[in-house]
Amino acid sequence: MSFRPPKGTDDIGAPESHVWRDVLREWETWADRFGYPLVMTPIFEATELFERGVGDDTEVVTKQMYTFTDRGGRSVTLRPEGTAGVVRAFLDSGATGAWKGAYSGPMFRYERPQAGRRRQFWQVGVEYLDVKGPAADAEVIELGFRFLTGVEVPGLEVVVNSLGDEVCRPGYVTILRNFLEENRDRLCDDSVSLIGVNPLRVLDCKICAPVLNDAPAMKDHLCEPCAAHYDEVMTALKRLEIPYREDRRLVRGLDYYTRTAFEYLATDLEAAQNAVGGGGRYDGLAEAIGGRRAPGVGFALGVDRIILASVLEPDPQVDVYLVSETGPGDALVAASTLRSRGLRVDLDTEGRSVKAQFRTAGRSQARALVVLPTEGGDVDVRIDEERAQMPLQDVAAWLESRLP
Ligand code: AMP
Repeated sequence: MSFRPPKGTDDIGAPESHVWRDVLREWETWADRFGYPLVMTPIFEATELFERGVGDDTEVVTKQMYTFTDRGGRSVTLRPEGTAGVVRAFLDSGATGAWKGAYSGPMFRYERPQAGRRRQFWQVGVEYLDVKGPAADAEVIELGFRFLTGVEVPGLEVVVNSLGDEVCRPGYVTILRNFLEENRDRLCDDSVSLIGVNPLRVLDCKICAPVLNDAPAMKDHLCEPCAAHYDEVMTALKRLEIPYREDRRLVRGLDYYTRTAFEYLATDLEAAQNAVGGGGRYDGLAEAIGGRRAPGVGFALGVDRIILASVLEPDPQVDVYLVSETGPGDALVAASTLRSRGLRVDLDTEGRSVKAQFRTAGRSQARALVVLPTEGGDVDVRIDEERAQMPLQDVAAWLESRLP
């Protein structure tokens, strides 16, 4: 009998995982630089959290959740996204005032699997809570942009829009609904069925695009504070030199999303999978899941898709391969010395012949070779065409100036 990974999931090992590790490291670097500490929340939560936090009429909740009853009779769900859990954790912690958290981990959605659309996939993201100002939105957008630039997503595009708030959106929704009713005959069935329930979400429909290009835009109906907020976000992006494009049809279909909405596109990927991430302001979310009012902004980025798009060259995983003429005992001790100086080292632990060790060293793509002599004394260090003899203690310093 042989088992395979469940449908829509993957085993990821070397060499592909080299890129994963580099991307996740880059993520930690940028999250850290922007002052976002790591936040870790459970991979499963009460089902109701997602019903309320993601929205019980969204496709994610109605069709895609991995929900089961545990042995205690509770309905729990494998998290389909990260925001609801992080906002719950923030509320639960009792924290007040500006609060930041960065997460990284697997999410689960029962989807029809294809490239870039998995049932278990990895998201990284941030949530910035208890903050109202447009600078918070701009900072969050910048973090995602810097990270995606760092991992070399080609054709990266930032798309922004404003969704208004509880003051101006209801009026706009009425105007939009009237427009959709007037054009009912030209809309697809799914869109028609949304007119009554959630007309904003019709704007998302790719099939109806030709009709929707003429639809009234939220942007033209923003109240004064929302318009000012949106302008300030865009001014900040300009000053940060983040290229962006406005898209008047970019929406988030839930009431608690307010004002800023944005997406990151990898325009070199197929349109169906080219959204590498998205986010926005969600001033009503904390209340929707039963907490106090805590405005916030955040995003989630799909690492599977980032890796599909990225042109990042994997970093060879070791600096040094150690070849020993006297067996693995000596090699292990020498490796330990080099590792304690910060070098990444691999070696043969099986006592194979020197010739076999050289072969493995070649395959390992190590940047340098260190050969331990039979008689003790200086080791032989080789890096490309260069060779040198020196005491083992000096190897790290010698390599430091030579390894990129
Ligand atoms: P969402 O949480 O739906 O806004 O998705 C944010 C990002 O996560 C998307 O832009 C994708 O990059 C990624 N993503 C969402 N669903 C999947 C999936 N089923 N498989 C792979 N990546 C996904």
